[in-house]
Amino acid sequence: MNLILLGPPGAGKGTQARRLEDTRGLVQLSTGDMLRALVASGSPLGQQAKDIMAAGKLVPDELVIEMISQRIDQPDVKNGFILDGFPRTVAQAEALDKMLADKGLKLNHVIEMKVDDAALVERITGRYTCAKCGKGYHDTFEKPKVDGVCDQCGGTEFKRRADDNAETVTTRLDQYHQQTAPILPYYASRGVLKGVDGMADIDVVTEQIAAILG
Ligand code: ADP
Ligand code: ADP
Ligand code: ZN
Repeated sequence: MNLILLGPPGAGKGTQARRLEDTRGLVQLSTGDMLRALVASGSPLGQQAKDIMAAGKLVPDELVIEMISQRIDQPDVKNGFILDGFPRTVAQAEALDKMLADKGLKLNHVIEMKVDDAALVERITGRYTCAKCGKGYHDTFEKPKVDGVCDQCGGTEFKRRADDNAETVTTRLDQYHQQTAPILPYYASRGVLKGVDGMADIDVVTEQIAAILG
């Protein structure tokens, strides 16, 4: 099964994608994670991406399209994938269609996670992850069971993203409404678009997605 989780920054795409990895054996393909790895590599391409991401803008379509195309070819993706953060422009959605057709693959569901802008600011500014295993947390909405200790791996170091600050959030939300939201009618017209209430509790959203996937 191949899915897209579509929604603004902070909607809960990564949180739900990781749950789907555990329950369905799918692989999360996050262009944000791939780009952060590219930045960490210190390559010239990574340096260019770093400045764009810090400003809350979108990196060039060609870069993310090529990253996704190469990743989908890897053997661990053969049971299916969850795209998280891609496509983010109509050009990326069109390139994805062509890429999947060329590879003999198809999309089963595109799931829109709907969350109000006001809630997203709080989601993003309170977000952090375990430095060791990458499990996501939130200062208010998803705390570790034992303060300062990761539920999943016992790690005690956590990190916050450089772009998860109140200043950048506004630009990122503008980019979503201007560049990414126009993808929704594109998928609606193909009959693959479903919606979930991303404002609900994390477990409730998981149930809504499960109901769509069957
Ligand atoms: P995205 O990948 O869409 O940017 P995340 O999955 O990283 O979003 O979620 C953003 C933050 O909000 C994280 O700190 C996460 O723990 C929290 N979060 C995710 N889903 C919910 C939810 N349904 N209700 C409250 N907080 C949530
Ligand atoms: P979030 O879900 O919180 O918006 P991501 O981790 O998906 O965060 O993306 C972080 C940043 O990486 C984006 O603000 C953008 O600069 C860049 N990025 C990620 N995916 C894409 C994409 N598909 N196209 C262009 N830029 C992207
Ligand atoms: Zn951990």
